[in-house]
Amino acid sequence: MTKTLTQLPDRDTLAAMDDRYVWHPFTPHAVYRDEDPVMIVDAQGHYLIDADGTRMLDGVASIWCNAVGHRHPRVDAAVKAQLDRFAHATYLGNSSAPGVLLARELVERSPDGLDKVFFSDNGSTATEIAVKMAYQYFQQIDDGAQSQRRRFMALTNAYNGDTLGAVSTGGIDLFHGKFKDLLFEVVRGPSPYCYRCPLGLERATCASACADETVRLIHEHGHELAAVIMEPGMQGAGGIITYPPGFLAAVREATEEVGALLILDEVAVGMGRSGELFACAKEGVTPDLLCVAKMLTNGYVPLAATIATQRVFDGFVAPPAEGKTFYHGHTFTGNALGAAAALGTLEAYDEERVLEKLPAKIEHLRGAITRLADHPHVGDVRQFGLCAGFELVEDRATKAPFDPAERRGYNVCRFARERGVFLRPLGDTLVLMPPLTITVDEIDTLVDALAHGLAREFPSS
Ligand SMILES: *Cc1c(COP(=O)(O)O)cnc(C)c1O
Repeated sequence: MTKTLTQLPDRDTLAAMDDRYVWHPFTPHAVYRDEDPVMIVDAQGHYLIDADGTRMLDGVASIWCNAVGHRHPRVDAAVKAQLDRFAHATYLGNSSAPGVLLARELVERSPDGLDKVFFSDNGSTATEIAVKMAYQYFQQIDDGAQSQRRRFMALTNAYNGDTLGAVSTGGIDLFHGKFKDLLFEVVRGPSPYCYRCPLGLERATCASACADETVRLIHEHGHELAAVIMEPGMQGAGGIITYPPGFLAAVREATEEVGALLILDEVAVGMGRSGELFACAKEGVTPDLLCVAKMLTNGYVPLAATIATQRVFDGFVAPPAEGKTFYHGHTFTGNALGAAAALGTLEAYDEERVLEKLPAKIEHLRGAITRLADHPHVGDVRQFGLCAGFELVEDRATKAPFDPAERRGYNVCRFARERGVFLRPLGDTLVLMPPLTITVDEIDTLVDALAHGLAREFPSS
């Protein structure tokens, strides 16, 4: 079997096996093969290599999780060193060294006040855990005096993952609508989606009315809220939707006023996407629960963390007979290879001064994307840190979207591959979400490829 990993079947054989045996996530299988999916067999640095030998710049960081490049020597070495000790041992009521070392790093590097790290496997579990922690917390503190706090508040266009708790707080109809009957109800605040403002306003003159409305809802439901959950900085999967300044700070203040917890889902933006290790630090906000995943292990191993304040943690500490224990955990909690990969990733950040180099790249991206802003089918360009979204529309004047069946976003990305760039859109929002170590020249290559993809998909524009 391992021999087949070193001597792979050819591309056609792999594709035939893929069609025969595999069910892909977020993938309409009726058109999958016709849309010429890539078949990655190698990767190096910022590049992916298809079984046909094509080299492609990884413009979405392997879905937002590759921070310092593929086969990074530091991360490789950390995983290999750990493999020489052991790959996994239980974290349930026991411990193992790599997770302990990583927990210390995360606590030291996260905003002051976040003190305890609860590990899991992925972004969805990280947010689901935060929701369950917040709920149980209020059931059992103060002799149940706050046990009426059973509800959550979340925003339209939120994405917190695909398990049912995360889907309940999520607010993307296309993904979440079908499961409506299975979900718990949340208080739903407005999305800060300025291009299609839910309040019918314009950002230049709105004075952040969506933040005011969110704060109003927090006050209205304050007595029954266990927590507000949101993605700081931007709503990622919702379409790279960026918040007006002050939104997050206003939510933090309101949650404190009403005594609800604040859960920040930094699965997409944590680990540096914003320019800071954690996006909340950019706005001087410390949540009660902070969720991290995607780039935590440089995309090597599924590993996530829910980082809690001492206060939340203390709510669960009591003699076992009182039943205050958090009875939640996953077999692979605290996985040693994952923790090693994360430690190697942080080491690479330090050695290569990854965060210090980000502001210049973020500025370069800001300049580079302006050339796409005038395209007749680019309705809106949005940027958050080292990430950009381009919302395609049929008609700029009316903002009318394309019929999703036309798969415009997907087509543009497929054409971009002619310029050696791999991208994956969010519906008709094109996305650039490169590794943090991308060079400014490579940023230009990404934007060139998008321009090319647009020109190919809309030849008469
Ligand atoms: C990707 C993502 C998740 C879900 O993470 P998975 O590892 O895919 O389960 C949750 N929240 C945000 C903001 C994300 O971007």
